[in-house]
Order: sequence, then structure tokens, then C-alpha cells
Amino acid sequence: MERCREKRAELVASLGGRCVKCGSRKNLEFHHKKTRTWIASQLNRWSRLKKYSEEIEAGLIELLCKKCNQRAGKPKDDEFTHDPDFVPDF
Ligand SMILES: [Zn+2]
Repeated sequence: MERCREKRAELVASLGGRCVKCGSRKNLEFHHKKTRTWIASQLNRWSRLKKYSEEIEAGLIELLCKKCNQRAGKPKDDEFTHDPDFVPDF
């Protein structure tokens, strides 16, 4: 969905467009500083994007590249804390 891609790019830009740890601009992912309170599979893409948008405004999300995100530790419940649909791609 084109609208989703645009919105996602906007959110990435609002977070500085690079990994907060190493400065990489590749393979960026939205990283929740705390475990999120909602389940990705219960929301459609647009609703999830809106959630991310709210959380970014609230300062709950940072950008990490895939490498740094993996280094931060793999969550037990992937479905709950990791949302592959929302890996921002360029
Ligand atoms: Zn990084």
C-alpha cells in the first residue's frame, strides 16, 4: 500500500533516518524501548502505522539497524515485540 510506505518513510525521517547506535542508514527497524502493549496481528497495517506514529511522538521508539537490534537481544515472543511488516525499507 503506497500510503503506508509514504507514512513509514515519514516516520523514519522524523526519527533522524539513521540507527541511533551506529549511524547506519540501512536495514532500519523500529525498536520499542519498552515492550509494546498491543499485538501486531490484531491490527491492520494502517492501524499499526498509526500506533507507531503515536509511540514515536511519545518518545517510545528509536531507530536501530538490524544488526544493532539483534545485538540488543532477541525477544522471547517475536510476534509481540518484533513486527517485520514495519521494517522501514529504502
Ligand atoms: Zn546500528
